[in-house]
Amino acid sequence: MPELRKDPIIGRWVIIATERAKRPDQFGGQAEEGPAEKPCPFCEGKESETPKEIYSIRPKNTPKNGPGWELRVVSSVAPLLMVEGDLDRQGQGLYDLMNGVGAHEVVIETNQHIGNMADLSDEQISKVITCYIDRIVDLEKDQRLKYVLVFKNHGWIAGGGRIKHSRSQLIATPVNPKRVKEELAGAHQYFQYHERCIFCDLIKQELESKDRLILEIDGFLAITPFATRFPFEVWILPKKHSCDFTALDPSMRLDLGRVIKKVLMKLKKGLNDPPYNYILHTAPFRRAKEGYWKTIDQDYHWHIEIMPRLTRVAGFEWGTGFYICPLTPEAAAKFLREVEV
Ligand SMILES: [Zn+2]
Ligand SMILES: [Zn+2]
Ligand SMILES: [Zn+2]
Repeated sequence: MPELRKDPIIGRWVIIATERAKRPDQFGGQAEEGPAEKPCPFCEGKESETPKEIYSIRPKNTPKNGPGWELRVVSSVAPLLMVEGDLDRQGQGLYDLMNGVGAHEVVIETNQHIGNMADLSDEQISKVITCYIDRIVDLEKDQRLKYVLVFKNHGWIAGGGRIKHSRSQLIATPVNPKRVKEELAGAHQYFQYHERCIFCDLIKQELESKDRLILEIDGFLAITPFATRFPFEVWILPKKHSCDFTALDPSMRLDLGRVIKKVLMKLKKGLNDPPYNYILHTAPFRRAKEGYWKTIDQDYHWHIEIMPRLTRVAGFEWGTGFYICPLTPEAAAKFLREVEV
């Protein structure tokens, strides 16, 4: 019997339909390779082939836009939003529009031609985390911007393109994204009733039941969500309450790097290097505005969502907002727990 499950935070329903079930180990190894790989502009020595660097981690004696770096951030060559200009908000009858002001940056996570973040060291991933924090803090100074979404597309199906060099992206927007607002609203509503953070309660319950727990180390946990949208969807959360990813203590960045690497390695090994997306959900910029974000420090809780792309989203999902997942999160968690890395 298929099962309907509701996500407690945003109220989204999913259908867990295991009727035509495959075993967990049968999901991997189906990734479409996509067209041939293109020459890589992101390796060390190719700095002139990318836009100028906005940020880098490099020894002081190395020149900007030259070799010697450990991590670089450059503007996207095909930016979705641009830094220059005014928002120029307008209404056309019932339609609202504004200029595409924002920022779109590419984080080149390593100077080596390594395709999957899973293969970077814990230390290197912790540098990526530091970079995300530094860039979000810098973009917050721009009063036109409201949110920064950090995300990764790995593999052809996941939008990773034809260059197989580990990188992530960061898009700063002049409006708050709908998905984020849904989480903020759901968390706020829960807080009004219970005066507790819904994510903290969820963490407590998942640590007690362990049914969907993949790992718990160094102040973080990784779970498969109860109302999972995709097989092997994983959430990484800090155990200590915090709405703001940029407030992450420097001493915990290496720990988070270790957790991210472990999870990505389990996916890579257990599922034959599947394509995946990940996103970072953190609080929007909390600027003083009447009636807004008054309890966000207490009621929201940052997290990372990882979505392996092993199934397709089709008509029913587009039409309803329901997702159909052919594997229970309990079976997915058990499988990932047992993949040794
Ligand atoms: Zn490369
Ligand atoms: Zn919390
Ligand atoms: Zn989220």
